[in-house]
Amino acid sequence: MTHENFMRAGLTEAQKGDLPYSAILVKDNQIIVRGFNTAQTDNDVSAHAEINVLRSFTKQKKNYSLDVFKEYTLYTTCEPCPMCAAACVWAGVSEIVFGASIEQLIAIGSEQIDLSCEALVAKEFQDIKITKGILAQECLELFKK
Ligand SMILES: [Zn+2]
Repeated sequence: MTHENFMRAGLTEAQKGDLPYSAILVKDNQIIVRGFNTAQTDNDVSAHAEINVLRSFTKQKKNYSLDVFKEYTLYTTCEPCPMCAAACVWAGVSEIVFGASIEQLIAIGSEQIDLSCEALVAKEFQDIKITKGILAQECLELFKK
């Protein structure tokens, strides 16, 4: 499986959300948890796809420690916002792979906090690898529907 394969799974998942964002948690080339944005459905401002996935995984595992997400990669159709990027730091995921960037979302008129996930992660205490731009145009297209 490649980054593109997982991002394609993310594109499908994103279409179930209140807004077209999704997150896919992957370990050893396998999808472990999928999630999408439920902020409106749940009346929860923090119910972004990434937060939903991190929550449902730790609930499943009945474990919370900074080691739970070691070796896990979080795929997101759009660059994690500062809240979600910080949650990834607290979770300790090993890698974040995203499609469209915050900059690209702002350019198409989406309301975003203009702080890149890389800038936030650069200030953290974990070593998180960031890969960006995977199927970015297709991720952006979901906002134009
Ligand atoms: Zn977010």
